[in-house]
Formats: sequence, structure tokens, C-alpha cells
Amino acid sequence: MSLLVVGTTALDSIKTPHAENPRLLGGSASHAAVAASFFTKPHLIGAVGDDFPRKYINLYRKHGLNLDGLQQLSGQTFHWSGEYELNMNNRRTLDTVLGVIEDFSPTLTAAQTRLPYVLLANCVPDLQANVLDQMHRPRFVVADTMDLWLNIARAPLLKLLPRLDCLVLNDSEASQLAEEDNVVAAIPRIHKLGPRYVIVKKGEHGSILSGPKGLFIAPAYPLRKVVDPTGAGDSFIGGMMGYLASQKGSLENNLRKGIIHGSVTASFCCEDFGLKKTTKIKKKDITKRVRELTKMASW
Ligand code: AMP
Repeated sequence: MSLLVVGTTALDSIKTPHAENPRLLGGSASHAAVAASFFTKPHLIGAVGDDFPRKYINLYRKHGLNLDGLQQLSGQTFHWSGEYELNMNNRRTLDTVLGVIEDFSPTLTAAQTRLPYVLLANCVPDLQANVLDQMHRPRFVVADTMDLWLNIARAPLLKLLPRLDCLVLNDSEASQLAEEDNVVAAIPRIHKLGPRYVIVKKGEHGSILSGPKGLFIAPAYPLRKVVDPTGAGDSFIGGMMGYLASQKGSLENNLRKGIIHGSVTASFCCEDFGLKKTTKIKKKDITKRVRELTKMASW
């Protein structure tokens, strides 16, 4: 079973209190698709500009991504720059340049429209809707979003929500969307907007899944050192969807296990800048941490 991933394929300039890294490979779809590639062969839908380094395309290839849906357009690649505070939990977006993604309107191939699992990674809600419009009866559709789209594209985002099986967002975004400070109280309000599954990410404190069978509380893998958490949310959802696409059987069970696999994949992402660590690990490293986390969270 395979997975379609659409989102940003970006260049990121990331500043932490300890280092500064300009124009690294980033983007919601890059992080999500590479994370998913440990479990399945994702099809990447995205656009890059003529400033996008060839070596990053080669990195996508090394991870077995299907690149039929990746277009190189004339113009600038999506560029995001952000700065972290000392505690690494608070970050500030310094600049977002949409570049070629602004007018990107992909036409999917017949094979792509029939992929059963769909990950609408964080990007312009109109682009997420455009891709979903073209899908033929997908089995499970998940979307991610962020504060920028809640601020400037709330209406198209609200229109997308009833078409999703699952919405993933972080705690502050959940509060913003539901207009409710308490995250546990925000969740039923988000269900009312459409998705039957809602996942709220709480960074180093794990995540909460809410669905027809109630709540599932998932831990994050405890790390002694966080170098750069950029892309952790995308790696989480990518790992989760990759795992889901690779399994048969009960959706609810697989979703819970998928969240644990996503959580562990995201832990590697935080251990170096951009995709540096995630592109070095092997599946067996994920399996080992899943085993450790399972032990730590059982009683
Ligand atoms: P995360 O840390 O999981 O929130 O994801 C950060 C990644 O999302 C970075 O690699 C950015 O390139 C990308 N990104 C930042 N802002 C946006 C945005 N407004 N839309 C889509 N992707 C974004």
C-alpha cells in the first residue's frame, strides 16, 4: 500500500542559540516523505525552484521516494527562516517566502490518484484541497497545518476539515482553531468541525489521539539533547502514515502503533539540523527506540 505526500519542499535557514544554518533541505513534505520512507515508498508531490540544489534531489532518490510528482519550476524555492530560543520549545518565524509553491497547481497521474493513503502535509490549504479533489476514494486522509494558515487562510482550512479522516496539529494551534485554551476541551470542538480523528502534538510531552474509541496518550521519546526540532511535527506525521500504509488489520490499533513509530522517527529529526540525522539512520534504529519507548511506557 502506498502513500501520497503533498506539502512544501523547501530551503530552511535555521538559527538556534548555538548555531546558524542557512538554506538546508527542509519543508513539510521533505521531512514527512523521508520519515515515511522507512516504512513504505511515498510519492512526493511538490514544486522546487531553479535554486534547489541537485544534491537534495539525489537525497530524495536515496530514500526511494517516487519523484514523478516533483516539479522544478522557474523561480524561487519555498524558503522558511526561523529562530529558536534557549529552551528550544519557542520558535519565531523570521520569514516565509512562498516562491514557486504560490501558484503550484499539480495534475496527478492516474496512478497517483489511486493511492490509498494521503498525507496533506502543512502547506497552503488551497493546494491541500486541490490534491484531495483529484484523489479517487482514498482509504485514509490526514492533514497538518500551522498558525500561518489559521491566520491567513482560515476559511479554506475550515472547508477542508470535513473531508479529512484525521487532523494533526500542535497544542497552541488546536487552541487557536477551537478558540479554547484547554487542549482537552478543544478536541471535541475540532471533531465538530469535521475530522473523526484528531491528534494534538505536545512537543517533548508527546501527543494525544482522539477518535471514535476515545483517547490514546502517546509519549515522546525522551532526548537528552535537542539540536534542532524543525520538522519534528512533519517527521511525526510522516512516520505515522508510512507505518499505517505498511500495515494490514485494525485501523485504530495501527494508528496507535503508527503514532509511536512517528514519535520515535521525530526524535531522530531533533538530534541534528534539518534532515541531517533522519537521512543517516536505518529502519533498525527506529525499531530499537520503539522497543525502548514501549518498555518505558508500560506498567
Ligand atoms: P515543523 O517543525 O514540523 O513545524 O515543520 C517545519 C518545516 O515546515 C520547515 O522545514 C519549513 O520549511 C516548513 N514550513 C514552515 N512554514 C511553513 C508553512 N507556512 N507552510 C508549509 N510549510 C512550512
